Amino acid sequence: MKTALKVVQTLEKGGFEAYIVGGAVRDLLLGKTPQDIDVATNAAPQEVKTLFSRTIDTGIDHGTVLVLLDGVGIEVTTYRTEGMYSDSRRPDSVEFVQSLEEDLKRRDFTINAMALDKERHIIDPFEGKKDIEKRLIRAVGNPDERFQEDALRMLRAVRFSGQLDFKIDSITLASIRKQAQGIQSVAVERLKNELDKIMVQGHTARSMSYLKESGLTKYLPAGEYFETDWSSYEPVDIAASGWAYMLYRQNREFKDIRVYKFSNEERKLIEQSLKAARLEQWDIWTYYHFSGQQLAIAAALTGVEADIAAGKAALPIQSKSEIAANGIDLMEWSGKKQGPWIRQWIEQMERSIVSGKLKNDKEIIKDWFTNEYHGNA
Ligand code: ATP
Ligand code: MG
Repeated sequence: MKTALKVVQTLEKGGFEAYIVGGAVRDLLLGKTPQDIDVATNAAPQEVKTLFSRTIDTGIDHGTVLVLLDGVGIEVTTYRTEGMYSDSRRPDSVEFVQSLEEDLKRRDFTINAMALDKERHIIDPFEGKKDIEKRLIRAVGNPDERFQEDALRMLRAVRFSGQLDFKIDSITLASIRKQAQGIQSVAVERLKNELDKIMVQGHTARSMSYLKESGLTKYLPAGEYFETDWSSYEPVDIAASGWAYMLYRQNREFKDIRVYKFSNEERKLIEQSLKAARLEQWDIWTYYHFSGQQLAIAAALTGVEADIAAGKAALPIQSKSEIAANGIDLMEWSGKKQGPWIRQWIEQMERSIVSGKLKNDKEIIKDWFTNEYHGNA
């Protein structure tokens, strides 16, 4: 906050207007620490760049420059309005505007359309503060028009309802119901970004019930799977846990949601935690084979009580690399050349060590290997 106010001051000293805007103002009024702080200004991006020594052009075509100061990044965006999102990915065009009020007007919800000046006075042309007190998500202006401009806003309303534990205003909700099919035009990356946020916040069940009630599940890719019972879902700090929960409850596989273009890392986490959740019983090999994170998610899905840290700590080795012998040892002991046989032996060694049948000690492994190897030869 301090750094953002410094940025505001520097811009003002440079002869421009500047305000803290958007989610940070909302979070401040709610007594929450904002995740990231955005500043709006009438300075053009090039003018912003001349006022600060370290900046990054994160979205200069859209008017945004990232200012680096005191070890943090503050996004500084020139007052603008957005054009239509015809590919629903990015606005086709942005138009720079003259006044703060015009900039606030293009924002999605009243609670996100406030600004704060350097004396910490709030500029609130759409009564966002009142809606914060009433705990309401309400579109700025005419909701039908706002959702036509950018259909993603319907999903954002649902996301904020859970993130903040707010209701959606009845007129805004009616408009979402009426236009729900418009969500089909939104790029899947933008949908996933909001759905991920729904899954990591405290009130996922609230968002999910709005998602169903508003009719959005009818038009989202794989939308029917979201209509599950989320009441026992406890968010882990990572979205993959929500996706895995959904597949687990719906008896589905990762392929059924792949349309959302997950990263390989996310895919693996979802697949593996599902797999662990579906095991009848967890044995020592389970604790070895799955990562702590995969097991934590799996335990959350099934509600089983498992001391994962203790299970991991009790393992003779944590990974292959801790085995006291390697391929070179095996070649030396057998007199055989490199080949696929080495991997097979290492895997056998790994299984024996993890299960406690073989001690992880080089001499003992050597005896075991010499015996087994010649026994099999
Ligand atoms: P958080 O960062 O806590 O998720 P936020 O309010 O900062 O919430 P962002 O998605 O980071 O949400 O957007 C920052 C601000 O930009 C919003 O507060 C809102 O004013 C505006 N905004 C973002 N996306 C849209 C949109 N699709 N339509 C209109 N305004 C938007
Ligand atoms: Mg934000």
